[in-house]
Amino acid sequence: MAVQIPFDNSYARLPEGFFSHQAPTPVSAPDLIAFNAPLAALLGIKTESPEELARVFSGNHLPEGAEPLAQLYSGHQFGQYNPQLGDGRAVLLGETIGTDGVRRDIQLKGAGPTPYSRNGDGRAGLGPVLREYIVSEAMHSLGIPTTRALAVVSTGDPVYRDRVLPGAVLTRVASSHLRVGTFQVFAARGEIEKLRQLTDFAIARHYPDADGPMGLLTHVCQAQAKLVAQWMAVGFIHGVMNTDNCAISGETIDYGPCAFMDTYHPQTVYSSIDQFGRYAYAQQPEIVVWNMAQLATALIQQLDDKEAAVRDATAIVHAMPDLVRDHWLDQFRAKIGLTTRQESDGDLIADFLRLLATDRADFTNAFRGLADGSARDWLLDRDAFDAWDTRWKARLASESAPEETMLAANPAFIPRNHQVEKVIASALEADFAPFERLNRVLSCPFDDQPEASDLAAPPTEDQVVRATFCGT
Ligand code: AMP
Ligand code: MG
Repeated sequence: MAVQIPFDNSYARLPEGFFSHQAPTPVSAPDLIAFNAPLAALLGIKTESPEELARVFSGNHLPEGAEPLAQLYSGHQFGQYNPQLGDGRAVLLGETIGTDGVRRDIQLKGAGPTPYSRNGDGRAGLGPVLREYIVSEAMHSLGIPTTRALAVVSTGDPVYRDRVLPGAVLTRVASSHLRVGTFQVFAARGEIEKLRQLTDFAIARHYPDADGPMGLLTHVCQAQAKLVAQWMAVGFIHGVMNTDNCAISGETIDYGPCAFMDTYHPQTVYSSIDQFGRYAYAQQPEIVVWNMAQLATALIQQLDDKEAAVRDATAIVHAMPDLVRDHWLDQFRAKIGLTTRQESDGDLIADFLRLLATDRADFTNAFRGLADGSARDWLLDRDAFDAWDTRWKARLASESAPEETMLAANPAFIPRNHQVEKVIASALEADFAPFERLNRVLSCPFDDQPEASDLAAPPTEDQVVRATFCGT
């Protein structure tokens, strides 16, 4: 029996020019490393033996109904416009409508060269693929919109980077792969009819209530504002917030050099390619606005009354910093146990963050500690904490169930860099038990799991990971 995927492919029905037909390039020895059975069930996939799954999710066998293609897009990378990017190593097999009624893309990442590969080999290494699997699924369990990971298949073929890596293919699932850069490419080329078709497609797929291009812009700004606030609340640093890595759906996409902070500092950067800290933790709320300004610039091109369009788009983008700030406040209010709103809450939150920054305290554990009374232990300057604690306790008097609020807002477990690297190192030695254990624990990040306390611990000095590398 074959793996059955109930495809219903809408992107493939768009006219020529949005993509290139591109089959995955077969691999030597596909071997199924990880498979997300609950996600497969959600997508309506009828699964088969591991061998059959490996054949399909390596790209060696095209399941019935697949219409493989590579999508065209462009984008600003570190602020510079690159007129042509596109799926250089990813192939969209097609879409399914899940048991929840949601349409999703099923994409093979690392599936071989495409017309957009430029000088790349179209492949991915097993380490980065496992990293994306762990971190994207952890984000999902944290309740943050994200692309998801369906399968990992090792290919049996080497991938040449600064070292030789074992190759792998990740099957990525997304509510679509439309990016800011998908709009930019047609706007920049003056292909206005395509820009209109893409706008209609995006509205129908993601925001059916949106009224025209400016309505779409408003919805994307709202989704992205909330997303970034959610990242901030769990100490997530995306690392490459280029406009080609900014999804129209409002899902987190492209897990390259991303990382969760251990010790808190607003200027934290992990990405080895982000030399000037453009995408540092505390920059993210500004960068997302910049990205939305690029989307606005692209969308405007299709409107006949340019003056009105510029005025409307400017108003929408100018409203965004406050939108981000409001979501940020909601997120951090919950983290300190507040469900009501008071004017002084912002200061109370900022002062706690200042204590964390000064003491380089563990972000995740210090916040979690507010619920169980151990926060003080994570700080060095106990007097400063006590002074803050007094103000905080006074504020909590007007809350009914602050512990519950905090336990639901402050995870006990995040994918810590040193643990991610450790389980990848084991996996590269063919021991997948630590990878599976980490995924299991991260699937319930808000539960105390005493048997997994090692995974909640901050890194020791010699375990600290200082740099992450791009997924290529
Ligand atoms: P990223 O930094 O992962 O967002 O990738 C930026 C661009 O480079 C995208 O167009 C990718 O498809 C492309 N790319 C990244 N790695 C490779 C690779 N190994 N082969 C071909 N294209 C790649
Ligand atoms: Mg990308």
